Amino acid sequence: MTARATRQPGLRQHGSADDHVAFVDLRAQTRALQPALTAAMEAVLRRGDFVLGEDVAGFEREFAAYCGVDQAVGVDSGLSALELALRAAGIGPGDEVITQANTFIATVSAIQAVGARPVLADCDPQGAVDPAAVAARISPRTRAIIPVHLFGRIGDMEAILALAAEHGLVVIEDACQAHGAVWRGRRAGSFGLAAAFSFYPAKNLGAFGDGGMLVTSSPELAGTARLIRNYGQRVKYEHEAMPLNRRLDTLQAAVLRVKLPQLDSWNDRRRQLADRYRERLADLPINLPPAEDGRRHVYHLFVIGVDGRDPLRAGLAAAGIETGIHYPIPLHRQPVLASLGYADGSFPLTERLAARSLSLPMYPELPVDQLDRVAAAVRDWVTSQAG
Ligand SMILES: *Cc1c(COP(=O)(O)O)cnc(C)c1O
Repeated sequence: MTARATRQPGLRQHGSADDHVAFVDLRAQTRALQPALTAAMEAVLRRGDFVLGEDVAGFEREFAAYCGVDQAVGVDSGLSALELALRAAGIGPGDEVITQANTFIATVSAIQAVGARPVLADCDPQGAVDPAAVAARISPRTRAIIPVHLFGRIGDMEAILALAAEHGLVVIEDACQAHGAVWRGRRAGSFGLAAAFSFYPAKNLGAFGDGGMLVTSSPELAGTARLIRNYGQRVKYEHEAMPLNRRLDTLQAAVLRVKLPQLDSWNDRRRQLADRYRERLADLPINLPPAEDGRRHVYHLFVIGVDGRDPLRAGLAAAGIETGIHYPIPLHRQPVLASLGYADGSFPLTERLAARSLSLPMYPELPVDQLDRVAAAVRDWVTSQAG
């Protein structure tokens, strides 16, 4: 029995240590898999194959099969996966690549890293790619579209693929938040010419540090990416392609191999938690992510939209509840991207989301009583504003 359960009702102190609700707590998952994780890492230490070792090749095979694609190339981050996908697709200076204004900066950094020009398009009201907004940004220089399965939800890929086919464009999915999401029978990562995944610890499939994966069904693209991630060499010290070092560590691959078989059940759990949030927050004057058919949404984040987001967030923090904002400053307002030349007001839906979005605690091991406290605190605040 927890200390909290023995307390008298009404005597609970807001903000005391055992009332703290973390936005994400990675320790529970590690604890649950501890013996297998330790054994997998010890096996790497025994073999000593730290760079491009057998767990990298094994994890690449397993992750490709999981996504329903032919090839996977382990890299050191999601950003590298995006960059190598663009490089291997031959995109570079003089080319334009369209992506969403409401994404994480990495999507745009990858485009800039290859020397291409990022072109931003507004998102749909839920933060997904908006095919009409993308279509409006296509120019004679456009070579690629990067739809982002933001928060873990696959957008309208049918429309994006049709647009790409019509204009002869490459589609590269930013699936860094969508491991395991399925739409119309296909998994995230299997729609485009290539896709990028991140294994940053808090992602739906997370390593013990940085890691990433490029997936594709093109043997040519995979081959080029394999060269680039390893100093451009097929034969040691013979450098035939861009000589970068973007390899996935064998130790991280070993950890990820232990975790991958759990991913579907973790995503199921996220969906159950999302349903419970929806139930608890129904009929409030806030925007909730709508319930989705099947496994289209894997709830990397559970994002609500609410007027007065900042005071609500402060109130929750005072009650010991951590939340996040994804993302507070849209890309076109980032100082480092000022040279793209977009004025304030260029992306109204993106700007509205940045002002109203609040990400509530969400991870598979989130205790249900904590979720209920978060929902009750949100309900109290919102109803107090209305009344
Ligand atoms: C996490 C993330 C990335 C980058 O992944 P890293 O592993 O941190 O480089 C790219 N795009 C999106 C949408 C992400 O959430």
